[in-house]
Amino acid sequence: TSTAPHEISVSSSSGTRPASKDAIINLDHGDPTMFEAFWKEVGEAADITIPSWRNMSYFSDVTNICWFLQPEFAREARRLHNLVGNAVADDRFLVVGTGSSQLFQAALFALSPSDAPEPMTVVSAVPYYSSFPRVTDYLRSGLYRWSGDAAKFEGDAYIEVVCSPNNPDGSIREAVLKSGNGKTIHDLAYYWPQYTPITGAADHDIMLFTVSKLSGHAGTRLGWALVKDVEVAKKMVKFMELNTIGVSTDSQLRAANILKAISDGYERPDLQANPDLKMFEFGRRLLSMRWQKLREAVKASCIFTLPDFEAVHCEFTGETTETCPAFAWLKCEREGMEDCADLFKKHKILVRSGGHFGVDSNYARVSMVDRDETFDLFIERLASLR
Ligand code: PMP
Repeated sequence: TSTAPHEISVSSSSGTRPASKDAIINLDHGDPTMFEAFWKEVGEAADITIPSWRNMSYFSDVTNICWFLQPEFAREARRLHNLVGNAVADDRFLVVGTGSSQLFQAALFALSPSDAPEPMTVVSAVPYYSSFPRVTDYLRSGLYRWSGDAAKFEGDAYIEVVCSPNNPDGSIREAVLKSGNGKTIHDLAYYWPQYTPITGAADHDIMLFTVSKLSGHAGTRLGWALVKDVEVAKKMVKFMELNTIGVSTDSQLRAANILKAISDGYERPDLQANPDLKMFEFGRRLLSMRWQKLREAVKASCIFTLPDFEAVHCEFTGETTETCPAFAWLKCEREGMEDCADLFKKHKILVRSGGHFGVDSNYARVSMVDRDETFDLFIERLASLR
């Protein structure tokens, strides 16, 4: 496991169930395994079989700018956005990617001029998602370069990454920079009703989504971008072509079926009455219960504080609901306590330290989206932490 401030590594506890009461609990990654229980309940309706001869070609739809995009996936993605009302998806270019992580890189490539003397500056307000700096700089590109906190940036040309609701702290965000020459990438991975009230259809230049956080199918590695400008969309597609010659058709078909099952749970007359098929309700109920347990345990420990969230009207559910972020952003308030993640580690809980997100290590991020047994063990240990 990792302790270096800019290193995130996979450990033997990643993705596994705790084998015993005193096992290591890994809540470092946001591995969304809490959704397994929902999909088990849905059962065969969301399964697919792909005949061995189907979709063997590199090409999915040569009439589309995104020629590797499976039309079924595009249809189901737009259908779901229209059902939820979280983003304008009609009349936008849809580019599919191997997770939204690949699309983030495609967007950096597309927004950076190829002939500029200096790399384009990439910024995001602190605390920012820990992958943004790492993914931006790992190949030391001549096209773009990470420059840290957006609030500290001075200048005219930049790419600002806006993550809303924000990973790690769950806050609702807007771009902090406003220059006419600036570009934005909106990472809306968590703008779904299980995590946050839907307050309107987002309509930004580039919006990134992923099945990882929507339905929990992180291993399917499927994300999509909604893009306004045709030239930007074309450059993103060019990146994908150079990087991986497209995206797995098998993953797209699986994701299409998953998205279809979610929408069907709300829209198909014969299924509508079944509460077990409503994924957003499942997610919200579970997360809201977890947040309640977390707040009680945090109070009992007297060491930490958590951000507060206002309850807001959700246009999707029609109810006033609080935000239930996928991560808990804990601040260690103990005098002289320098490293919050270290304190957790002593209790065999792996979390991600504030340093990864551009802030002090008295902050730490804890995943709220793991399986029940892992989460319950975490709460037990947290409550007894002194
Ligand atoms: N953006 C944000 C804000 C995330 O939290 C994550 C996953 N932790 C991703 C992107 C990556 O998503 P994907 O699995 O689609 O690459």
